[in-house]
Amino acid sequence: MKYLECYKEGCRKLAEAGVPEAQLDARLLLEYICGTNRNDLLVRGDREVEAEKQTAYETAIAKRAERIPLQHITGEQDFMGLGFRVNEHVLIPRQDTEILVEEILKDMQDYERILDMCTGSGCILISLLHYNNWCEGVGVDISPLALQVAEENGQRLLPEEKRPVWLKSNLFEKVEGKFDIIVSNPPYIKSEVIATLMPEVKDHEPVNALDGMKDGLYFYREIVRVASKYLNKEGKLYFEIGHDQATEVSELLKQAGFKEIHVVKDYAGLDRVVYATL
Ligand code: GLN
Repeated sequence: MKYLECYKEGCRKLAEAGVPEAQLDARLLLEYICGTNRNDLLVRGDREVEAEKQTAYETAIAKRAERIPLQHITGEQDFMGLGFRVNEHVLIPRQDTEILVEEILKDMQDYERILDMCTGSGCILISLLHYNNWCEGVGVDISPLALQVAEENGQRLLPEEKRPVWLKSNLFEKVEGKFDIIVSNPPYIKSEVIATLMPEVKDHEPVNALDGMKDGLYFYREIVRVASKYLNKEGKLYFEIGHDQATEVSELLKQAGFKEIHVVKDYAGLDRVVYATL
């Protein structure tokens, strides 16, 4: 079959299955399998696709039609210009989270100690360490399977001297020492909302990376409660938040004695990041 025909067939099947952005995903999967890029569709649509690749493409399209996330099929997601490996044990890095990383980078300096609580794929911590020098990082997660992914990403994306320590711990249970920056994009979706999310998320992403318990604020409360013990003087705590959580999370920080509480919006104009200084 010709390249353009494969693509059109892919579009049709994904649209039929109700996949959002069917055309985009059909193209990205074809490029992933053929090792091509966007230009191929524009100028080389009439080239023949080898039978093997066509079969592989059909398999990938069938998976995507079952609402398996694109990133679970390709095994990768770009974040902050770095290619992260992902699987079903970690949250797929989101573009929104780049706002959090960029906000930290504005202020971060060399030689700082950084803790990433609920590190998942390690995307936040690895990006921060990539764009700075001589920093020490600790990435914490309760899931050993997530930590395996984080560790692999660290090995692939960072030179040895920049790699963090990965720590399996229930929040701060096993954490030692003090930090200049604590960052967390914790699970923050209310338990009852999870069933209403799109199938890619609710059926394929780890529920323990999503579920923020009854009011969605469980992890903010737990982290804020003890964070001051783990922060150096003038240390900063950065959170990604849900769009409707800025007031409550700011209030938690205020009550715990944090100052200079800031809320940062994402590109959609929604509250996305809250940070404060001890
Ligand atoms: N820190 C990871 C991320 O931002 C995982 C977050 C999570 O599992 N809630 O992608």
